[in-house]
Amino acid sequence: MSKRILILMSETGGGHRASAEAIRDTFQVRYGTQFQVDMIDLWIQHTPPPLNQIPKTYRFLVNDAPWLYKFIYDIGEKPELLEPLMRVTATFLLPFVRGAIEDCHPDLIVSVHPLMQQITLEVLQHMKQVVPFITVVTDLITIPPVWFDPRVTLCFVPSEEGYALALRAGLRPSQLRQFGLPIRPAFAQKPPPKPTMRQRLGMLPDVKAVLIAGGGEGMGPVGEIAQAVAERLAARGQAVGQPAGQLVVICGRNLELQRELSAYAWPVPTIIHGFVENIWDWMIASDCIITKAGPGTIAEACALGLPIVLSGYIPGQESGNVPYVLKHGVGVYVTEPWQIAEVISGWFGPQEAILEQFAANARKLGHPQATFQIVEEIARLLDRTGPDLP
Ligand code: UDP
Repeated sequence: MSKRILILMSETGGGHRASAEAIRDTFQVRYGTQFQVDMIDLWIQHTPPPLNQIPKTYRFLVNDAPWLYKFIYDIGEKPELLEPLMRVTATFLLPFVRGAIEDCHPDLIVSVHPLMQQITLEVLQHMKQVVPFITVVTDLITIPPVWFDPRVTLCFVPSEEGYALALRAGLRPSQLRQFGLPIRPAFAQKPPPKPTMRQRLGMLPDVKAVLIAGGGEGMGPVGEIAQAVAERLAARGQAVGQPAGQLVVICGRNLELQRELSAYAWPVPTIIHGFVENIWDWMIASDCIITKAGPGTIAEACALGLPIVLSGYIPGQESGNVPYVLKHGVGVYVTEPWQIAEVISGWFGPQEAILEQFAANARKLGHPQATFQIVEEIARLLDRTGPDLP
């Protein structure tokens, strides 16, 4: 009989879902039906109102009330406030989380969300269940202590910075593994040449392309940036008599943005999409990406050797990603749309050597195999018996 793995995630942004899918799909690719992997949004599917509305407030909080989001985020930075709060929440949620676990009867639980360690571990303790519990951290550099619970069986961290923070939070080296952020298995495959992929996606095969994104929710000034870049490339194209570049804009779940940009008269070839299931194809087809500093997007871009223009970051969990990108020479941080347009125009023109150097550095920094290493380690753990666990 196949062993059952339960992945706990919640749809705040696109990163946690993408990481959960990455782990589920990599189990499938690597082990076929040997494991049954279920994925649940513990907050939305298994908690009562108003708690089940929390994930839905994420985009509003980050976009429209960043001060409130930062205030809530900062609570997660203070264990002395967070621990009692989590204990009370766990007591209240006990029957709901217990129901979710009993429905699935997992042989192992994986959490890819910062708010699911303490509560689930409290509930398991209460149920007197000995189920291995694994955290896969999906923040890259700035990782609040709420991610780390010393009671976990294993904790996968994506970076040296994450490893050090986990030790500081009381985890032992024997509990820690460092492979990279979990990204979907398609990122581990050898990509076809860019012109081939462009042709496949209906783009001009021999014209450089820039991908513009704002995470799963299409956050930030994506439209303004796309318009500035398009105008700048159109102006340079006129001067040289051929298109200086083409655009792909991924609006994620931001339908309003998608509608607005689809109606715009673009001065250079431009493709607008909402949420795409094959973002790796669009990344392969592009020569660089403009994005907020989302950890998932940065890890994916690096895995494919894609230079990055960071156009902003969510204060708190994404703050550390900006110096990370700059330190490793895989991109730049520029916030003004007209300046971003200048950068792209340079990269697609006289400063092409910089683009190539960033691409080489990104390939060196990326971990396309990280998810395979994570699931192999989890499979090894499941092969062992209880007393053997670290
Ligand atoms: N993503 C996707 N399709 C889209 C837009 C985004 O698959 O149309 C994925 C993207 O590849 C990344 C995740 O959503 O894996 C976004 O995660 P990130 O950490 O960059 O930002 P978040 O949305 O969590 O703030």
